[in-house]
Amino acid sequence: MIAIVKESATPEQLDHFVSWIEDRGFRTNVSHGENETIVGIIGDTTRIDPFLLESMDIIDQVRRVSEPFKKANRKFHPADTVVDCGHGVLLGGGNFQVIAGPCSVEGANLMDIARAVKSAGAGLLRGGAYKPRTSPYSYQGMGERGLNLLMEAGGELDLPVVTEVMDPRDVQLFLDKGIDVMQIGARNSQNFPLLREVGKTQVPILLKRGISGTIDELLMAAEYVMSEGNPNVILCERGIRSFETRTRNTFDMNAIPVLHRLSHLPVVGDPSHATGHTRYVRPIAYAACAAGADGLEIEVHDQPSKAWSDGAQALTPTQFRDAMRRIALIRDAVCADLGEGDE
Ligand code: PEP
Ligand code: MN
Repeated sequence: MIAIVKESATPEQLDHFVSWIEDRGFRTNVSHGENETIVGIIGDTTRIDPFLLESMDIIDQVRRVSEPFKKANRKFHPADTVVDCGHGVLLGGGNFQVIAGPCSVEGANLMDIARAVKSAGAGLLRGGAYKPRTSPYSYQGMGERGLNLLMEAGGELDLPVVTEVMDPRDVQLFLDKGIDVMQIGARNSQNFPLLREVGKTQVPILLKRGISGTIDELLMAAEYVMSEGNPNVILCERGIRSFETRTRNTFDMNAIPVLHRLSHLPVVGDPSHATGHTRYVRPIAYAACAAGADGLEIEVHDQPSKAWSDGAQALTPTQFRDAMRRIALIRDAVCADLGEGDE
C-alpha cells in the first residue's frame, strides 16, 4: 500500500504519520520525489483501512499496490537507480555500460582479452571463476585463483570486475578479494539463502533472470537482496527457456521495457547466453540497446574454439570492437533524448 502525502505536509507531520504506521507493526519506505512524497507501507496491509488513512489531514491519496515487491518497485522510487560499480563506473539512469570478457577465467589470456575489451570501450570486465555447469564433469572454473587473476586484470586496467558467486559460503572470500560486482547466475536466481547473503553486503549484484523465471520472480529475487539492505541491484535478461530449439534460450525483449516500467533498477541484456551462437549475439545486442537496455553483458574470447566453456557464443575481440561501434550508433539513433517528442 502507498500513501501519497500532500505537498503542504510539514516534516513533523510526516514523521508523526510514519511513527503512527510503524507503531502498528508495519515497515515504511519514504521516498521524496520532486513533486510528491510517497510513503510505502510494508506488511500485511489488508489490516489497514485505506479510508481511515485518507481521512488524515496530510494524506492526499492511498492506493493498494498489488505487486509484492516494494523496494524494487518504481512506485516507491520513481527515479532510476544508478549503481556505482567501482573504478568510477556508473550503470543505470542514462549511464550505459558493456560488461565483457570470457565465460570462464582460464589463465594468462584473461589479460589479453581484458585489454581488448577495454580498448573497444567495455566499462566492466567479466569472467567466471566458479562455473555453474549442467554436468558435474564439465569444467567447473579456477576458483580462488580465477578471482585473483580477475582482480589483477581489473587493477592493472582500472576496470571493475564482475564474477559469479554460487555458494553463500564463498561470499566472504569475494568480499576479501575486493570483487566489484557479484553475479547471481540464472540457476541461482531463486537460491534464497544466497540472495540473502549477498544482500547483507553493499557490493553491486548483477542478478540474472531464472531460466524459466517470470519477470515477477526476477523482481522478487531482487527484493530478497534489497530487503537485507543492499540497494545495488542490476537486473539482467539473459533469455528464458521456450519451446524453440534453434537457439540456446529465447531473449525476452519485452522484459526490458516491462522491467523499466515496474522497477527503478538498471536493466542489462545478455545476448550471449540468450542465443548461444556467436552469429546471433550481435543482432540481439543491438535490439536490446534499441529496446532501452542500460547495458549489455557479452562474452568475448581471444580464441573461441579453444574456450573452456561457451566458446560457441563468444565474440572475438574484432567482432566485439565492431559490435561496440554499432551499439554507439544505435544508441545515438534510438536513445537520444528528444525532449517533448519523447512520448
Ligand atoms: C555466465 O554468465 O557465464 C552464466 C553462466 O550465465 P547464466 O547464469 O545466465 O547462464
Ligand atoms: Mn557463459
